[in-house]
Amino acid sequence: MSQYDYDLFVIGAGSGGVRAARIAAQHGARVAVAEEFRYGGTCVIRGCVPKKLFVYASKFPKEFEDAAGYGWNVSEKPSFDFNALVAAKDKEIERLEGIYRRNLEKAGVELHDTRAVLEGPHEVRLLATGKVVTAERILIAVGAKANIDPGLPGSEHVITSNEAFHLDKLPKSILITGGGYIAVEFAGIFAGMGVDTTLMYRREQIMRGFDDDLRATLHQEMEKKGIKIITQDTVTRIDKEGDELHVTAKSGAQMTFDKVMFAIGRSPNTEGLGLEKAGVVMDASGAIKVSADSQTNVPNIYAVGDVTNRANLTPVALREGHAFADSVYGKKEWVVDHSLIPTAVFSQPEIGTAGLTQAEAEQKYDNLDIYKATFRPMKYTLSGRDEKTLLKMIVDADTDKILGVHIMGPESGELIQMIGVTMVMGATKADYDRTIAVHPTSAEELVTMR
Ligand code: NDP
Repeated sequence: MSQYDYDLFVIGAGSGGVRAARIAAQHGARVAVAEEFRYGGTCVIRGCVPKKLFVYASKFPKEFEDAAGYGWNVSEKPSFDFNALVAAKDKEIERLEGIYRRNLEKAGVELHDTRAVLEGPHEVRLLATGKVVTAERILIAVGAKANIDPGLPGSEHVITSNEAFHLDKLPKSILITGGGYIAVEFAGIFAGMGVDTTLMYRREQIMRGFDDDLRATLHQEMEKKGIKIITQDTVTRIDKEGDELHVTAKSGAQMTFDKVMFAIGRSPNTEGLGLEKAGVVMDASGAIKVSADSQTNVPNIYAVGDVTNRANLTPVALREGHAFADSVYGKKEWVVDHSLIPTAVFSQPEIGTAGLTQAEAEQKYDNLDIYKATFRPMKYTLSGRDEKTLLKMIVDADTDKILGVHIMGPESGELIQMIGVTMVMGATKADYDRTIAVHPTSAEELVTMR
């Protein structure tokens, strides 16, 4: 009989925590999970899932417009009920949360609906009851939270993506601050839903870290959709007057909006978690430091997902949780390869990216071949929509190996998944060249680029 209440105690029931708990239990471990909010974590409750549902909703007006080019009579303007969307989205998320809970229960995991904090290397306090339980190992998977600058005068008027999913009505105008994933995705969502949308970014070009061609083309395409993009400026104060928010920027510009949303990054949720009591070391940003196998400096405490600030993406957290559970409880040791992570940004148009940007490749390789295709997708010929698709491939000229692929256009997320598979397999440009095209598609350009 073990001296501990559990073999594994998982704090946080998001993507990484749930996967680890379920797999560890399936390997025979006695597992418990504590969750202070809702099962499913950021991705299911207030991230990827509701975001994608909102993206779908925001694309319909464009579809209605395009339909006219194909002979459809769309003279009666369709109307949009934002509250109906929010309600439908909430229902779907409730359904998914139920699935998460049931899957854990089916695997034999004990669920504690409470905030849990560390009291020592093997001790966890359940705050709902005050009870302390013990575990041989503890996994921290508490994720991250949206940043707001608390020193900003008027910061209490700012919303983040959390609140954006629960607005009681669609604003007439919105300012979104930030130039990363969340900022561009929500700019597309609000603009698509008919909100007068402005995006403010502090440097020269949005989407830092992405390939420069993608960044520039996305910027142009967003502006074509009516999104105003202000660069090299930040918000310095917000004053509320009635329902209006008066924004003052560093440049001195004064603007008025219904809502101001900050999408300026996220920080690990480690505050008040008792990590000091257990002796767990964090970095300067509050992220838990871990080894390749997700172990902290305290040998029986592990951490996965956004709380470790490695690659803050759901599929990465899932893999980290799975690798931990298999390695520790399943006699199958493996570590996650973080070196090539295909990713999609659900901006409008959508982005898919895998591997090195051109700038990164130029730093590492002497001879590169760069292939680029820009064209109007066939669908937009009849509809007359002026929207570009961009496909770009970066190849090591010495070995012919594909180093990076960057795409923008409809279904880029779907496409980059499969491109990622070919890159993990070590695909060369010659492999693409000898693959017969699928016609007529946009993706065929990838195998006909010369
Ligand atoms: P990002 O790190 O992607 O972007 C943050 C943006 O905010 C950057 O443009 C940054 O500018 C800017 N910024 C940071 N601090 C300030 C500040 N004090 N004032 C003004 N601007 C500031 O974070 P997000 O919040 O957009 O998203 C968080 C993470 O969530 C992402 O990194 C991603 O890992 C994940 N995510 C993934 C999605 C997907 O897979 N599709 C969707 C949504 C989120 P600068 O460039 O100068 O640093």
